[in-house]
Amino acid sequence: LPQFAFAGRSNVGKSSVINRLVGRKNLAYVGASPGKTTQVNYFLIDRRAYLVDLPGYGYARVSQAEKERWAKLMESYFQEEADRITTGVLIVDIRHKPTANDLVMHDWFRQTGCPEIVVANKLDKLKKSQVEPALQLVRETLELTEADILLPFSAEKGMGKEDLIRLLVQTCGG
Ligand code: GDP
Repeated sequence: LPQFAFAGRSNVGKSSVINRLVGRKNLAYVGASPGKTTQVNYFLIDRRAYLVDLPGYGYARVSQAEKERWAKLMESYFQEEADRITTGVLIVDIRHKPTANDLVMHDWFRQTGCPEIVVANKLDKLKKSQVEPALQLVRETLELTEADILLPFSAEKGMGKEDLIRLLVQTCGG
């Protein structure tokens, strides 16, 4: 089955994006990697695809030990699952320059060779005139080319939802 991996820093709206896309109630929980606060959660969508909810990162009030645990967990996920990831979905906040951790995630997705969709969430928080410059900053920071997919999105208002679904279906050859 196709596997869509969702990543993003804490509070970027990853849960909201996932909810907007499928709704938690439509996700069948299939399990987690061992761990407590940080874990990789696997869901089945409609028995047709796996949605992998990768643990959020970059939360300031997290201990060094917890950060190291996160890094180890992600490394093993990418080591073991790289071949099975169909599409990486990196969620960033459209209002902010992507962080160092976002860049690390972006690199990990790149290294798997799978297509990546960068979702610029919280679009509703910007005025229309602010959108293009904001997208440009994301593009430059992540060094995206014209071929890369950067999708303005609002989990709150639902903007971009149909596009994201279409892109996910496309990347898995549907
Ligand atoms: P997570 O930690 O990445 O899973 O983030 P959450 O989904 O819990 O969202 C964090 C906060 O951002 C919550 O208060 C959400 O209501 C808010 N949020 C998420 N997406 C959007 C969005 O598109 N627009 C706005 N205005 N707020 C959002």
